[in-house]
Amino acid sequence: MNNMPFNFDKKLLDAAQDALKSVKGKFEKIEAVTEYNQNKVLASFIKNKASEAQLWGSTGYGYGDTGRELADRIAADIFSAEDALIRYNFTCGTHSLGIALFAILRPGDTMLCITGRPYDTICPVIGMDGANGQGSLADYGIKYMETELDENGGIDLDKVKKTVSENNIKLVYIQRSRGYTLRPSLSVEDIRKAVKVVKENSSATVMVDNCYGEFAEMNEPTEAGADLIVGSLIKNPGGGIAKCGGYMAGKKEIIELCSYRMTTPSLGREVGATLGSTREILMGLFHAPHIVGEAMKTAVFASALFESLGFETTPSSSEERHDIIQAIKLKNSENLIAFCRGLQKGSPIDSFVTPEPWDMPGYPCQVIMAAGAFTSGSSIELSADAPLREPFAVWMQGGLNFHSGKTGIMLAAQEIIRLCSQ
Ligand SMILES: *Cc1c(COP(=O)(O)O)cnc(C)c1O
Repeated sequence: MNNMPFNFDKKLLDAAQDALKSVKGKFEKIEAVTEYNQNKVLASFIKNKASEAQLWGSTGYGYGDTGRELADRIAADIFSAEDALIRYNFTCGTHSLGIALFAILRPGDTMLCITGRPYDTICPVIGMDGANGQGSLADYGIKYMETELDENGGIDLDKVKKTVSENNIKLVYIQRSRGYTLRPSLSVEDIRKAVKVVKENSSATVMVDNCYGEFAEMNEPTEAGADLIVGSLIKNPGGGIAKCGGYMAGKKEIIELCSYRMTTPSLGREVGATLGSTREILMGLFHAPHIVGEAMKTAVFASALFESLGFETTPSSSEERHDIIQAIKLKNSENLIAFCRGLQKGSPIDSFVTPEPWDMPGYPCQVIMAAGAFTSGSSIELSADAPLREPFAVWMQGGLNFHSGKTGIMLAAQEIIRLCSQ
């Protein structure tokens, strides 16, 4: 590696080289998944006869926007779903998930989450601690239940079977990714087993929060029996190109319900000007399998390098992966701060900024973040978050290409090595 612009210590360069050697087999597997998914995406563009004229979009009501319809069709194909909605005007993942929940659930219905406590931003949408007056599900009289994960962090299938058999559950909710916990992420196979138990014992609809999981495996949860998957375009499926947005893909009648919640009853998906966003959404989808591969390589490399430096990582460098998230336990707050500052120094944008811990709303302790992205808040770009408390873990993800991702990780490592040798 050309060390020129970064002046890495010799010891770190050697450690990086060894780390890379140790994960050669993992990289080959990632490339096989990338190639498979890339061809799936390319085939869909060809099958749907995507044309240049469809890239530019509409204004006003957006009636008859064939580019928007094309993007929906391609999103449905690549997630092996009957139908899909993919839009820049879903403001984020939480908004997309919220639309889907409100589309499916009605007053008096019960939702059951089978992966323990959901991602932080979803809890107020559900109104988990009771009605919150903001129009949460609880405000509309929709009930919430939850089954804990088992001792290995997997779905407790016995508990799920019992709960869906004994209660009238309308919607079962599964979160694929670990979020900011140390539980393992679910594989599509894990989801298949859970869906089977739910479907054999109830008539519940199964919805999956697919954030960070898209294109990490050859299959998506929709191919494992899930009725609906939902995610964000500033994560995996935006390919680092979509400026904002979200998607939902699944059964035709569920997507139709989502379309009435997205706009209004009767209008549904017939309206919605795309204002020139279609080109970026399609280009992002096209690049997504490759970009996810680069992010996965960055994560595997980070895991191997930090293991060699004596830190515990999850997933470990040899474990199977089902999303792009890498957690590294760094033992103390000083290391967390050093890691984030080092990573920030390797960002293409805002590299000169020094991350500081801050009191993030909703957190009982200070949090430090590193983000130097072309798209604000994008976590398919190299980024990291660390709450300054036990177990002193940093969660990192993204990297638009492996070479710059690797440099970012090495700068983070260098910062910690210097701190430790002081
Ligand atoms: C990011 C994320 C969300 C929410 O997405 P936002 O775009 O941040 O609103 C929901 N669930 C999981 C597991 C996520 O990782």
